Amino acid sequence: MKPAARRPLVAGNWKLHKTLGDTRALLEDLLGRLHDSEAAEVVVAPVFTALSTAREKLAGTSVGLSAQDCYEQPQGAFTGEVSVPLLADVGCSYVIVGHSERRELFGESDEQVKRKVVAVLKGGLTPIACVGETLAIREAGNTEKHVLAQVDAILEGLSSVDERLRAKAVIAYEPVWAIGTGRTATPADAQAVHAAIRRRVSERLGAALADGMRILYGGSVKADNAKALLAEPDVDGALVGGASLDAAAFAAIVAAAR
Ligand code: PEP
Repeated sequence: MKPAARRPLVAGNWKLHKTLGDTRALLEDLLGRLHDSEAAEVVVAPVFTALSTAREKLAGTSVGLSAQDCYEQPQGAFTGEVSVPLLADVGCSYVIVGHSERRELFGESDEQVKRKVVAVLKGGLTPIACVGETLAIREAGNTEKHVLAQVDAILEGLSSVDERLRAKAVIAYEPVWAIGTGRTATPADAQAVHAAIRRRVSERLGAALADGMRILYGGSVKADNAKALLAEPDVDGALVGGASLDAAAFAAIVAAAR
């Protein structure tokens, strides 16, 4: 049995997709398909420009709102950036931080990811902090070393905020080779990395934090593989990309998380 604090979380990362009209339509479709709202927590992460529209659609529902990224400073001369207080203002309760696309395409470092995690928590929101290895790293047998170095940076950030705040943090293990490729880690492979992450959290910041921390799996999660992945003892939910753009597919993943 997983601890009650680890209520399954299924988050949909819409990436750079969906106009305002598409956002309304997708959320209407999704809301019509989600039942039994207690079983799993559901969150969607539209583009910044659609957050306000999504918030209106989600008002009075149990589906939460996430941003896909944020800047580490609350305000100032940072052209083009969006801060945590502004994301809170538009209704977000979560922020995805350190997604592999941010790391690979925009050069985000572990240090930046750490600072963003801290900014999100201090701003009263919950970070979903992503870690994961490339295929080359996996094939060289360095998965654990690489992922745990990324986790260490996140834990350094968590150690700088008070215990009440740090208890909210979520980590998402997303093997880069499985994102958007149709290749998925086997449940056993995912479990091995999730268990290693939880052990590391326990060693660095204590068993209480580790036991209560939700660790999500991401990487080509679909309706047909979600159940087996989510059944693993250290997999507490899913971060879903492609399949979250399809209401039926995403609702089926949520159903599998029950
Ligand atoms: C993601 O980008 O976080 C992701 C897991 O994408 P996909 O589900 O499409 O692999």
